[in-house]
Amino acid sequence: MNGSTVAAVSTPNAPGGIGIIRISGPEALEIADRVFVSVNGKKLAGSKGYRAYYGEIVFSGEKIDEAVCLVYRAPHSYTGEDTAEINCHGGLYVTKQVLRAVIESGALPAGPGEFTKRAFLNGKKDLASAESVMALIGASGKQAAAAALNTLEGNLSAEIKKCCDEITGVCASLTAWVDYPDEDIEELGEDRIAAVFEDVKSRLDEIVKRYDSGRAITEGADTVIAGKPNVGKSAVMNLLSGYSRSIVTDIAGTTRDVVEEKAVIGDIILKIADTAGIRETDNPVENIGVGLARKRLERAELVLAVFDGSSGLTAEDSDIIADCAGKCAVAVLNKSDLPLKADKRVLEEHFDRVVELSALTGDGYDELKNAIADKLMTGDFDPSAACLTGERQRACCVKAAEHLSDGLEALRSGMTLDAVNVCADCAVDALLELTGEKATSAVVDEVFSRFCVGK
Ligand code: GDP
Repeated sequence: MNGSTVAAVSTPNAPGGIGIIRISGPEALEIADRVFVSVNGKKLAGSKGYRAYYGEIVFSGEKIDEAVCLVYRAPHSYTGEDTAEINCHGGLYVTKQVLRAVIESGALPAGPGEFTKRAFLNGKKDLASAESVMALIGASGKQAAAAALNTLEGNLSAEIKKCCDEITGVCASLTAWVDYPDEDIEELGEDRIAAVFEDVKSRLDEIVKRYDSGRAITEGADTVIAGKPNVGKSAVMNLLSGYSRSIVTDIAGTTRDVVEEKAVIGDIILKIADTAGIRETDNPVENIGVGLARKRLERAELVLAVFDGSSGLTAEDSDIIADCAGKCAVAVLNKSDLPLKADKRVLEEHFDRVVELSALTGDGYDELKNAIADKLMTGDFDPSAACLTGERQRACCVKAAEHLSDGLEALRSGMTLDAVNVCADCAVDALLELTGEKATSAVVDEVFSRFCVGK
């Protein structure tokens, strides 16, 4: 249990109907009592958990707001600690004033994700479930939210625990046999060990595969709209983001900023980079932009290659076609509202999906949407299956599968069984890092640093 008591505004930094100031820690209720006066005169510190009190926030003799204060008693709270949640009116000024009063009354400002970190440290949830909290908050669609909720409720952790138990079961028998060669312990057949390793490895591979193919739904696919100037790339980008909620962000730290826009199309999230046009140029500043665009194209998960259907394809278009070779790409033959002059068959030779579109009128949008869903293979996404949240968990899963492969290799090449045992131990360690049971404090700190303050 952490010794300090922390507080933060847990609702968004915007005006709203209600603003919530959360206080958690051993002194949460005493601190709340210093700013909250209930109408029935009862002190929160003497209260049972799961109680709501109506009253006023008063600080330095001045009334700040009317409020309802919810009381949770350890361990039956989100963090596992005593917690008070002050529900006041959701004005920016009011919530800040209440938070200031709470901090001046003895609470420390909570860091990013501190409440969830405390929940993890107090054993309320494991690291995988804690990470899914952020995924749930950030979910842009129904399927992404359902997948995050399932992980939050522990279905991934349960599956990972099963994998660990199976490997540990084999390891325990192996260890006993290796450590006590003189004892009459039945030697575990190599076939049996291999079968367990293979089975667990294939389940882990499946989890990683599912994460990779579902990324477009849970996290968003890095998408590049490529094409020579004036084919309608901006128009396509506007069309896609116009049909969805879109958020424009500047990715800082680049000489020439790449603007990223998030387009939500059904359940698919496209993280679209507006990449300034890929073409050779003498302008050194523009060249930096072109270099960035190329890099972005190289690692894009989806390329929308735009061509102007109202004029013939050119050498510059051929360069774009070449850049798309081997990539997950959809060819967009834009300006379909004008007479078709480009040779569609040339595109069909290089792309398995060619969509005629008018970015101007929106004609062909549904076909484009279907082509994108097909290319990203999101149709099979099953949010109820064990689902990884983020690259950290993926890396742990991949590492565990690799150690199991090494173990299988050691078995096949006739290495000693303690070598096999080491591989199994490493695989289990990687899985325990995923659930947080064996994560270093640096890993834990890194995970929670990505959270927002107040969660
Ligand atoms: P970019 O340089 O590739 O980003 O091209 P823009 O999106 O700026 O478009 C170039 C020009 O083509 C503009 O004048 C657009 O209005 C026009 N344009 C874009 N899409 C269409 C379309 O579907 N039909 C027609 N007729 N014009 C379009």
